[in-house]
Amino acid sequence: MKKIGILGSTGSIGTQALDIIKMNQGRFRVTALTCGKRVDLLESQILKFHPDIVCVEQEADALRLRRQFPKTEVLWGKEGLKQTAAQADSEMILNALVGMRGLEPTLKAIDAGRDVALANKETLVAGGAIVMRAVEERGVRLIPVDSEHSAIFQALQGNEGQKIRRILLTASGGPFRGYTLDRLERVTVEQALRHPNWSMGSKITIDSATMMNKGLEVIEARWLFDVEPDIINVVVQRESIIHSMVEFADGSIMAQLGMPDMRVPISYAFAYPDRLVNHFEGVDFFQLGQLHFESVDLQVFRCLGMAYEALKLGGSYPVVLNAANEVLVQQFLEGKISFIAIQNTIEKVLEQHMPRYDMDLDDILEIDSEIRERLSVWEQR
Ligand code: NDP
Ligand code: MG
Repeated sequence: MKKIGILGSTGSIGTQALDIIKMNQGRFRVTALTCGKRVDLLESQILKFHPDIVCVEQEADALRLRRQFPKTEVLWGKEGLKQTAAQADSEMILNALVGMRGLEPTLKAIDAGRDVALANKETLVAGGAIVMRAVEERGVRLIPVDSEHSAIFQALQGNEGQKIRRILLTASGGPFRGYTLDRLERVTVEQALRHPNWSMGSKITIDSATMMNKGLEVIEARWLFDVEPDIINVVVQRESIIHSMVEFADGSIMAQLGMPDMRVPISYAFAYPDRLVNHFEGVDFFQLGQLHFESVDLQVFRCLGMAYEALKLGGSYPVVLNAANEVLVQQFLEGKISFIAIQNTIEKVLEQHMPRYDMDLDDILEIDSEIRERLSVWEQR
């Protein structure tokens, strides 16, 4: 049985990962589970999956769980998350945390020699260079869970070392595809949370609406596949059936297709290089009829252009892009700022940034907190 620890087991990816484990009884064993606030859900997961270690955000919740589950090691907070990633007797850690809080646990899991199935894309946006260096040094596998990157990873199987001409990263276009800037000024939180094809956590749903999600994914692809930014092209594929494509030097294009269902890339990461058997809905091409392709309007969805720019400038720019985005998305969700203020403010923050290069983990964490503090001061004004 493959031993898997799940960070962020109460979220959208975390719960789907546990569905896969439940559907494949006898194949996987859950070693660790962690949550933030949804402690009730974690409790029911402990009863079903019997992990050795769990971690929660708050100390009070941890102390209560310790009394309730005396056989389970219960940790809490940031340190607890890092310890869980390193200590659990796991062959693989699925990082399904949202945001920068995922970076240190990812590094701890790698240092401890675990393979990492990575959903937490913010980890690679902010710390791509140090994460990939650690992966190489420790000789572990970093397997993408993000559907586009899983598609690219699958297209590359058997083609290792071949020259890649282009990576075609597909995007649904989100709920505001085709909108003008003017219309984007008036959208509400409720509208932004209504994604046409995918059901996901609130942060990534807003990122999909601003198209920052695609920007983060461009940066994620640069690190995972060691490619130059200018060969990564974003293609809107409205139906979210083609999950991404790789064009090789001979002009051949390999694509991975399927229904928009995150359980497929999660299964692939868990079982790689095998494939699990499942009975999820397949693509009915006759009912579908057509697939539609278009480009992204970069004048309207400026986050995507900013992400490319941050990636090309390098150094601390992607850290700043990510930190500012995390804070502003949260402020938008809380009704404190408008939708369009997300991209306008990120642009200002990037313009004012004095870049740093050759950063270690401490530098990255320091820049990340500087940006968070600065934006919370702006909010108070
Ligand atoms: P969710 O918001 O649904 O889940 C996030 C998880 O992180 C939850 O378990 C949550 O716990 C936990 N968490 C949040 N804050 C804290 C904290 N302060 N301390 C400890 N744990 C915390 O996110 P998603 O599952 O949607 O996304 C997870 C990652 O996967 C993101 O990086 C996202 O970009 C990426 N991704 C997601 C996809 C999707 O379909 N959802 C698709 C592709 C990538 P709790 O809920 O208990 O508070
Ligand atoms: Mg994706």
